[in-house]
Parts: sequence; C-alpha cells; structure tokens
Amino acid sequence: HHHRAAFETVARGFVGGKVPLGLKRKGLRVVVTGGAGFVGSHLVDRLIARGDSVIVVDNFFTGRKENLMHHFGNPNFELIRHDVVEPLLLEVDQIYHLACPASPVHYKFNPVKTIKTNVVGTLNMLGLAKRVGARFLLTSTSEVYGDPLQHPQAETYWGNVNPIGVRSCYDEGKRTAETLTMDYHRGAQLEVRIARIFNTYGPRMCIDDGRVVSNFVAQALRKEPLTVYGDGKQTRSFQYVSDLVEGLMRLMEGEHVGPFNLGNPGEFTMIELANVVQETIDPNAKIEFRPNTEDDPHKRKPDITRAKELLGWEPKISLRQGLPLMVSDFRKRIFGDHLDANP
Ligand code: NAD
Ligand code: UDP
Ligand code: UDP
Repeated sequence: HHHRAAFETVARGFVGGKVPLGLKRKGLRVVVTGGAGFVGSHLVDRLIARGDSVIVVDNFFTGRKENLMHHFGNPNFELIRHDVVEPLLLEVDQIYHLACPASPVHYKFNPVKTIKTNVVGTLNMLGLAKRVGARFLLTSTSEVYGDPLQHPQAETYWGNVNPIGVRSCYDEGKRTAETLTMDYHRGAQLEVRIARIFNTYGPRMCIDDGRVVSNFVAQALRKEPLTVYGDGKQTRSFQYVSDLVEGLMRLMEGEHVGPFNLGNPGEFTMIELANVVQETIDPNAKIEFRPNTEDDPHKRKPDITRAKELLGWEPKISLRQGLPLMVSDFRKRIFGDHLDANP
C-alpha cells in the first residue's frame, strides 16, 4: 500500500496539473541512462508500471540485463547498448541521467573513464535534452560534500572535496556534471532537476561491488567475517531504494530545480551497521578490522528539510526494515535459483 500511496502522490504532482498519471494518461517517452544498474532498474519498473514508454541507455559496465529481463517483449520498453560518452539521437520527453559507476571499487577502476562519463556523458545528454526540449534530471551524489565540515549536510553547503585524490574522478566529476546542468538551465532555458543521492541499498545491488552494505550482507550469508574498514566509527546514512525512486520521480514531476538531498537521515557507524547485519542474518557472524581506504569521509547524514518542504518527500523504510528485503535477493543470487533473480 506504500507503493499505491506513492503512485497517487506522483499523479497529483504532475506539472501543470492537467494530465493525470497512471492508466488514463498517455504515457511519456522517458530515457533512463544507466537503467540496467541497481537504482535505474528499479526506476524503470515504476515508470513502466505507470504507463510510460521507457528507453534504457546503458553500456553494461556495472549494469546487467538480468535487472531488466522482466520487461523484454513489452512494446513500451527498449534497451539500447550505448556509451553516453558518445553522442546519441532520440526523441523523448524526459531524461533521467544515471549512467555512471557508483561504487568506489568501480569508479576507481578506470578513473579517466569515470570523468569522461560524468563530464562528456552528461554534456551529451544535456545536448540531447536541449535539442528535443526534454526535461533533464541529474543523479548527483552526497560525495559532492566531500569529507564534510558541516553536519548534517544541507544543500547550501559547498563541500570539502580533495581535487587531486583517488575519489576525485567521481566527486569532482559529479560537481562538474552539476555545473553543466545549471549552465544549460541558465543558458539554454533547459528544464533541469538535480538530486544529491546519499548511500542507497536494496535488491539488485552488485554482490561484489565493494560497497559496505553489499559486502556485509554477502559476507554474512557466506559465513565470512564482516570487514570493517578503519576503526569503524565513520558514519553513513542508508536509504532503501524504493524511497529513493519515489524521491526521484517526485523531483522530476515537481517544479523545483534543486539540488535536493535524497537520503535517509538515520545515521550509523560501520560497527553499528555490522551489528544490524548480524541481527538480521547471523548473530554469530564475526567482525574483522581492515585498513581504511584513502580520503574516506568521516561522516555523512543528509539534511532533508528542503525535500520535505518542497517535494513532500521523506523516506519511509528504516535500515532494520529494508535490510531483510535485500537479504532475500542476495540469498537467491548467491546460492542459486537464478530463474527467480528479480524481486
Ligand atoms: P550502478 O553501477 O548499479 O548503475 C550505473 C549504471 O550506469 C550501470 O548500469 C552502468 O552499466 C551504467 N553506465 C556506467 N557508465 C556508463 C556509460 N559511460 N554509458 C552508459 N552507461 C553507463 O549504480 P547505481 O547505484 O544504480 O547508481 C546510479 C546513479 O546514482 C549513479 O549516477 C550514481 O552516481 C548515483 N548515486 C548512487 C548512489 C548509491 O548509493 N547507489 C549514491 C549516490 C549517487
Ligand atoms: N548531442 C547529442 N544528442 C543530441 C544533441 C546533442 O548527443 O541530440 C551532443 C552533441 O554531440 C554535443 C553535446 O551533446 O557533443 C552538446 O550539444 P550542444 O548542442 O549543447 O552543443 P554543441 O553541439 O554546440 O557543442
Ligand atoms: N566499508 C567498510 N567495510 C567494507 C566496505 C566499506 O567498513 O567492506 C566502509 C568504508 O570505508 C566507508 C563506508 O563503509 O567508510 C561506506 O563505504 P561505501 O563504499 O559503501 O560507500 P561510500 O564510501 O561511497 O559512502
């Protein structure tokens, strides 16, 4: 019933208020770049469910066809293998621009490619949006705040980012993507939206992407020790993926440019997270400490006042509620039963 309520709210929020969403509305043509990935595939599910025609553009660097297979054969769904670093011609109404590796392990794998994806890829999608007059939504990140000196982080904070570090390809890349988005908005009167996404988890995350939630869950299921980096006192705030997708759609349909923080303000140290994973999966799971990675932000927690006030949005699913929903998906994918890999 959570989904139904969310659906109706999106319908009320439609721009101009003239076209009701859902079955009565003529579907929009929507592009989701990065739609074969974790967040993108959940977004595609919601867009298809409300009757839109969806075109996914993805180069399958971290995305998987399995995340979208349940839409194959649907005439309202198209999947294009394409790298956004190359130009692309399409006729559409909205562009959700997600294409970019999100996990540190993936974005550090080829940092120059990550920068190209964020800068040239975003430029191309903005050029496309400008040519056809589409509305453009950028999925930026809480990493634009760097190792923050303000806590919690509000959208007005300009951040504390190392321009020459190993994370810079991602956080400076996203900062430039935000700049480009605002310059197209100011210069070409493009309709744009910017979301700053905080750590998000859920079904379909890559099992071995090195992110902390996927690591801990996979480790606990495989009876391996949970690897806590550093002293484990650093904090993150973890959002369940359906809350994020709801926020992205409200942002796109609403009338505010942003940027908007989209995240769950519930803040946990990595040791606390390990404890919740123990409670959820295996109370006997061991914890092992490992050296931390370079430039790791010490704390992170969104101030979501702006999204609450202007989008009427806030997360509904706590970490203790969301983790079990992800565990069943990971269990299936780790231990087999591939026929049923898409919850
Ligand atoms: P993901 O890695 O699962 O998905 C990214 C998708 O983009 C993948 O399908 C990948 O194949 C595709 N892609 C990468 N480079 C591409 C390119 N050059 N051309 C075409 N496709 C390309 O990651 P995700 O967690 O789903 O993240 C989606 C977006 O949300 C990203 O832009 C990410 O920066 C942002 N974000 C995510 C989080 C999070 O916690 N998941 C947090 C902050 C921001
Ligand atoms: N672009 C694209 N698809 C389009 C329109 C533009 O991929 O439908 C690319 C184009 O190749 C260019 C970028 O978007 O690299 C920016 O386009 P814009 O028209 O804003 O600038 P210009 O082409 O004048 O540099
Ligand atoms: N982390 C950890 N164990 C792991 C993976 C990550 O303790 O197995 C820590 C990492 O050092 C960081 C936090 O968890 O402090 C979040 O890391 P993640 O890569 O998930 O996301 P990000 O750093 O981008 O917020």
